Amino acid sequence: MSACPALTRIVAARDGGLCRIRLPGGVLHAHEAAAIAEAATLHASGVIELTNRANLQLRGVRSGHEAALTARLLQAGLGPQMPADTPHTIEAIDGIRNLMISPLAGHDPQALCDTRALAAPILALLQSEPRFATLSPKFALLLDGGEQLMAIDHPHDIWLAAMPADYDEPRFAVGFAGCPSLEAGSALAAVVQADVPALLDALLHTFIDLAGTDDTRMRNLLVAHDAHVLLQRAADRVGIALQHGSQIDAWRRAPTDPTKRLGAHPQGDPQRWYAGGQPLAGRIDAATLRELGALSARHGDGSLRVTPWQSVLLPNLTANSVEAALSGLHALGFACDPAHPYAAIVACSGSTGCAKSAADTKADAQRLAALLTHDRTTSSAVHLTGCTRSCAAAHCAPHTLLAVAAGRYDLYQRADTSSEGRFGVCIAHHLTIEQAAAQLNRPARKSPDA
Ligand code: SF4
Repeated sequence: MSACPALTRIVAARDGGLCRIRLPGGVLHAHEAAAIAEAATLHASGVIELTNRANLQLRGVRSGHEAALTARLLQAGLGPQMPADTPHTIEAIDGIRNLMISPLAGHDPQALCDTRALAAPILALLQSEPRFATLSPKFALLLDGGEQLMAIDHPHDIWLAAMPADYDEPRFAVGFAGCPSLEAGSALAAVVQADVPALLDALLHTFIDLAGTDDTRMRNLLVAHDAHVLLQRAADRVGIALQHGSQIDAWRRAPTDPTKRLGAHPQGDPQRWYAGGQPLAGRIDAATLRELGALSARHGDGSLRVTPWQSVLLPNLTANSVEAALSGLHALGFACDPAHPYAAIVACSGSTGCAKSAADTKADAQRLAALLTHDRTTSSAVHLTGCTRSCAAAHCAPHTLLAVAAGRYDLYQRADTSSEGRFGVCIAHHLTIEQAAAQLNRPARKSPDA
């Protein structure tokens, strides 16, 4: 049984039960936001977290309220779309909806493909094929449309990335157990866009065929199986022609810009804008979630996009409504400027929610935010983590504060080599938050390896 929280699997935490609500494509409608806010107030503490997989989780679910919470969320349409004849439980199906697309899918001016049209049949497939219910809830898929606002630093078991249109027909690069890279050589092969759903289907069946009991992730399978052989086996299964060659070997993913999640920007349709804001350390309360939905209903199309940077977007604004939407986000305490300290801080749930944590990382993040200078950049981002498990950040941040005692942290700086451990090089020990802020506010220092 997985320990991952889900809609029907409320996992015990220090501050009560933890319930995770998976949002297909990170999309949340105003009426769903209102339903979640009500459920979080009635059955939990009202604390809501935006996760780094663009989902939501409710903290502090009260003992005895678990079934009522789940029923309320399912009634609001937040569960998986179950085929009538499936032999599997909602719990099994809910956990496998791990398909990441850009939070700006369909609206990003740089996009090569509107991945929403591809994501819909893939999500339907994940929920309808009984064999896929045996996949680990951590098994993750990435469908990258080439958007500028795309998280490509989070490893995925299978990734597919749109290639530029200068090729003869739309196609997608394919890779395993990693991310599309800005460097050449990350793609195993490419397939035409029309073959993407069938190839993913075949790859998942092939994975299940070959996986041993302990092979829950693609990286486990690749210890004993060659990635090219595995991909060819899946392609042969459904008669898909894989494309190889120098163009695919030389393909590089175009650079992304995560700062585009903040502030107001035009969409692909120049008549429409989106506005984005970031709460401190990905945590909001029920009233804020309800108001976010209302804000989008007033000024946009009534939908929100949760991002893997633990922030939100309000899409489809008119030029006249942009200022009001930004004002609304500011009024809710969201940062809309990439230079704001909130944009640079990530923190795990810390000692109030997790017994493994040596410090209250969320409260310390708040203190740190007040002390950091307001000229942060992505390269000076800082991750506060209660232990080495690093739940809040899937990749190594430029700086990591690893809790060693209440209010005390070791400070790490990302190294230029892979030989310096998970968080890079430790540059200071046992710092208070004030001392950490003083270190972080200094001009950027070079890595010892540079
Ligand atoms: S990183 Fe460690 S302390 Fe923080 S939530 Fe995860 S397990 Fe708990």
